[in-house]
Amino acid sequence: LERQVARLRRMDSVGALTSTIAHDFNNLLGQVQILVSNVRMDVPADSEMNRDLAAIEEKVDDASRLVGNLMAFRDDVVSDVPIALTPLLNEFVGSQRKVLSEKINLDVDLRPELPTVWITPHSLRRVLDNLFVNANDAMPYGGTLTFRAYPRHLEANSVNEQLVSGDYLMVEVADTGSGMPPEILETIFEPFFTTKKDGKGTGLGLWTVYRIIRRAGGWVEVHSWPGRGTRFTLYLPNQPAEREDPNPGPPNKRLSSA
Ligand code: ADP
Repeated sequence: LERQVARLRRMDSVGALTSTIAHDFNNLLGQVQILVSNVRMDVPADSEMNRDLAAIEEKVDDASRLVGNLMAFRDDVVSDVPIALTPLLNEFVGSQRKVLSEKINLDVDLRPELPTVWITPHSLRRVLDNLFVNANDAMPYGGTLTFRAYPRHLEANSVNEQLVSGDYLMVEVADTGSGMPPEILETIFEPFFTTKKDGKGTGLGLWTVYRIIRRAGGWVEVHSWPGRGTRFTLYLPNQPAEREDPNPGPPNKRLSSA
């Protein structure tokens, strides 16, 4: 027992250290971001220097997403108050139009009457940000990213036994990109699984998505059609999660082949 306690203490201090470092590192990245964008404003828009600075900005964004996903471990996921989504989702769409590749057509359908949910806004933004980056990366030659939000009523067990009956907010992020074969789809929610080259991927994105949504009492579903695209569907309950599941079980994955 003593050894177990000592081991838990060690793990705890590693966790605390990681998140302290991640937090400080994130602040430093924020300063780099501001400085780079200041310099960029002084440089002609069509110069090589401006392109290099844009590339630096992109790398800094990747780094801060990585650090953010590490910090997500400690984030509050369940909100104390119900969250109205329409303004949050509209603001998110606005911020994404600037970062998505210009070859990508963004198709947005947000229903006016959306149920409130109990997930903290920064957690939901983190989830959507990870899904948009993946959709963007899956369509290097362009395509359509479809973003939808709509209400749905579920009877008990109509989707799976993990969800209680009631009203849900449904969020879909779909792309017309590469899609995934079954053997990849099996592993995408595992930490550190990535197929991205040149150090671009960390394999923490979908793992973070899955953990956040499960802790909020929701569910993630994915359908993928190799060579044609992928659709992620989030189920978020209109009620607060009864208890946060700190160690959610294996994710539900579905593969549809056309
Ligand atoms: P990362 O983006 O750092 O690779 P993720 O956990 O977000 O980590 O994704 C893991 C892997 O899942 C990706 O490397 C990619 O192979 C696959 N993947 C995720 N989203 C998509 C998508 N929309 N289309 C095709 N493949 C995807």
